[in-house]
Amino acid sequence: MARKFFVGGNFKCNGSLASIKTIVDGLNQADLPSDVDVVIAPPAPYLHWAKEHITGNVAIAAQNIYDKESGAYTGEISVSQIKDVGATWVILGHSERRTLLSESDEFVASKTKFALDNGVSVILCIGESKEEREAGKTLEVCNRELDAVVAVVKDWSNIVIAYEPIWAIGTGLASTPEDAQETHKGIREHLAKVLSPEQSEAIRILYGGSVNGKNATSFKDCPDIDGFLVGGASLKPEFVDIIKSRS
Ligand code: PEP
Repeated sequence: MARKFFVGGNFKCNGSLASIKTIVDGLNQADLPSDVDVVIAPPAPYLHWAKEHITGNVAIAAQNIYDKESGAYTGEISVSQIKDVGATWVILGHSERRTLLSESDEFVASKTKFALDNGVSVILCIGESKEEREAGKTLEVCNRELDAVVAVVKDWSNIVIAYEPIWAIGTGLASTPEDAQETHKGIREHLAKVLSPEQSEAIRILYGGSVNGKNATSFKDCPDIDGFLVGGASLKPEFVDIIKSRS
């Protein structure tokens, strides 16, 4: 089955109105291929501005939501608020939140369910640490993180998985295409067992971790890699090269 190529840009906690304007202007001026789903995730204060100014077929993602509708949750952002300002996606389970903010698998799963139940699609991040990889636990960790979501969500048609080995994020040390493909294949096999072969075949699994304008094409022949989640390089003009890397 042909899965549509997907490229997400995770700006993380970077940027200003001026720098995000430069990125949005660059995307507006680029001739982006129509056969790629492109999603950008600016920091929350800029979501509305980005939605108002992006002209092409580029969707907007928030970098987080809370699993409650509204109320006394100081500092949190609700799913209805991100929808109100035009976001249709949310990134959940990023390793920076799992590690720095101690987000549990169950909390990520709860937020995933809440987003989906409220009509927002989810980029669900999973991935192992260096120590876990060295201990041969890559798939065990990924499957555990996935299973927490499987326990509460049965329809995965609005989820895109981002496999992001923690050791590759922001380090300049991207996984080799061979290693990433092997893990993506293992993830897909696991999903076939715990969800269904049909859902497993349809779901897009992105690779994330030091993808840039130069190495993106090297993942071209990996049958289970359906796109990228890009951090640092999404802030630079080379993001367009990544979007075009399958063209
Ligand atoms: C990320 O944080 O989602 C990411 C992939 O970062 P980078 O591309 O900078 O490694």
